[in-house]
Amino acid sequence: HAKEAGRNTYRFFTEQINTDSLAHLRIAHSLRAAVRAREFALHYQPQIDLRTGALVGAEALIRWHHPEEGLVPPNDFIAIAEQTGLIVEIGDWVLREACRQAVAWQRAGLPPLVVAVNISAVQFRRGDFEQSVLTALSESGLAPRFLEIELTESVLLHDMEIMLSLINRLKDLGIKLAIDDFGTGYSSLSYLKKFKVDRLKIDQSFVRDIGRDPEDRAIVSAIVQMARALNLQSLAEGVETPAQLEFLRAQGCDEAQGYLYSKPMPPEAFEVFVRAMGDEVREY
Ligand code: C2E
Ligand code: MG
Ligand code: MG
Ligand code: MG
Repeated sequence: HAKEAGRNTYRFFTEQINTDSLAHLRIAHSLRAAVRAREFALHYQPQIDLRTGALVGAEALIRWHHPEEGLVPPNDFIAIAEQTGLIVEIGDWVLREACRQAVAWQRAGLPPLVVAVNISAVQFRRGDFEQSVLTALSESGLAPRFLEIELTESVLLHDMEIMLSLINRLKDLGIKLAIDDFGTGYSSLSYLKKFKVDRLKIDQSFVRDIGRDPEDRAIVSAIVQMARALNLQSLAEGVETPAQLEFLRAQGCDEAQGYLYSKPMPPEAFEVFVRAMGDEVREY
C-alpha cells in the first residue's frame, strides 16, 4: 500500500514538474539571487478603526522588483519560496525590515503604530522562529507590542501542543497575534479558546460579495459576533466600497483594511498618509 502511494506521489510530481518546471525553475533561480541583490521591498496598508476612524495599524506586504520582469506579486512567488525553503531567509528579512521601519517612523516623530507581518507556515514551524523574532526586536529596538504576526488557521492545527507552547512563548514576549484569511481554513474553532489570539482578519472573499450574497453576509456577521463574544478584535479585509463599510459597521466589526482607504503603499507614501491622519492614530 505504501509503495502504491509512493508511486502515485511520484507520478503526481513528475506531471507537475513537466508542466510547471520552466517557470518554476526560473522563478526559484531568480528568487535566490533576489535575496542577495536586495530586490524586495515592503509596502504598508493602513488598518482603520470603524468606530473612531482612527488609524490603528499597518500590514506589511512584500513586493519583488525583478530587474527584468518588473513587479512580481507575492502570489506568484511565495509558494515557490516555501517549496524551495527560501521563505525562511525572505521571511527573516521581512520581519527585520518591518521592525526597523516601525522604529524609524517612531524616531521620525510619527505616533507609534502596530505593524503586522505575514508569516508563512514553513517559516513559523522551523525550530528557530522564536529566535528570529527576538533578533528582529532586539536589533531594531522595537517594543514587542508594536509587532503583530499574522498566521493562517491551518498553521495552528498540526502539532497543536508544540504550536501552543510556541505561541504562548511569543505572546509572553508581548507581541500580538492575528489569524489571517479567517474562515477559509480547516478550523476547529476550539483553537480560538486555547491560543491567545488578538485579532481575526475576515477573509476578503466573504467581504467582496456582501452586497449581493446573503450567505456571505451571514458568515461575516457570525464571525464578528463570535469575535466579540470571545473578546477578540475583528478586522475585515478587502473593503472596497462604502456599502461594504456600512454593513460591517452595522454588524459591529471593529476594523477594516482595503482599497476604500488605501492600497498598500511604499514607506514614504505611508508616512505622508499617517501625517495626514493627524491625531487620529492609535495603538490597537
Ligand atoms: P494577505 O495577507 O491576506 O494580504 C491581503 C492581500 O489583499 C494583499 O495582497 C493586499 O494588497 C490585498 N488587498 C488589500 N486590500 C484589498 C482590496 O480592497 N481589494 C483587493 N482585491 N485586494 C486587497 P498582496 O500584497 O498581493 O499579498 C497577497 C498575499 O501574499 C497575502 O495575503 C499574503 O498571504 C502573502 N504575502 C504578502 N506579503 C507577505 C510576506 O511578507 N510574507 C509572507 N509569508 N506572505 C506574504
Ligand atoms: Mg495578511
Ligand atoms: Mg488575508
Ligand atoms: Mg492570503
